Amino acid sequence: MELSHIEHVGIAVKNLEEAIAYYENTLGLSCYAIEDVADQKVKTAFFKIGQTKIELLGSTHPNGPIGKFIEKRGEGIHHIAFAVNDIEKSLEEADKKGIRLIDAKPRKGAEGLDIAFLHPKSTFGVLTEFCEDKNISSD
Ligand code: ZN
Repeated sequence: MELSHIEHVGIAVKNLEEAIAYYENTLGLSCYAIEDVADQKVKTAFFKIGQTKIELLGSTHPNGPIGKFIEKRGEGIHHIAFAVNDIEKSLEEADKKGIRLIDAKPRKGAEGLDIAFLHPKSTFGVLTEFCEDKNISSD
């Protein structure tokens, strides 16, 4: 497989507004998008640093995946996302190498990217996401 860069780092936070204020006022980044992902019970805020993004994940319900994550492990880094040039092929290759997949097939994630997750039990404790932007890499 071919990873080109870190697409984003996902960070679980208890209070999205306070976390946004820290990234903007202390780190000097600016939030360029906020997205409510209802089926994941999460509200996301995006910042850009070079070609990498920071994705803040605020839970909108304690029973959602981020709510549960924070309860179990506290706030902090939730996942790392790598940009890949062929997500189907990358998943197939990971599967062949015995990596446990959360998503056997890519699905649509934030910003219209095709995304899929690898299970942290197979990736040394780090929830790992593959992302492909088919709008720029389809040819
Ligand atoms: Zn992500």
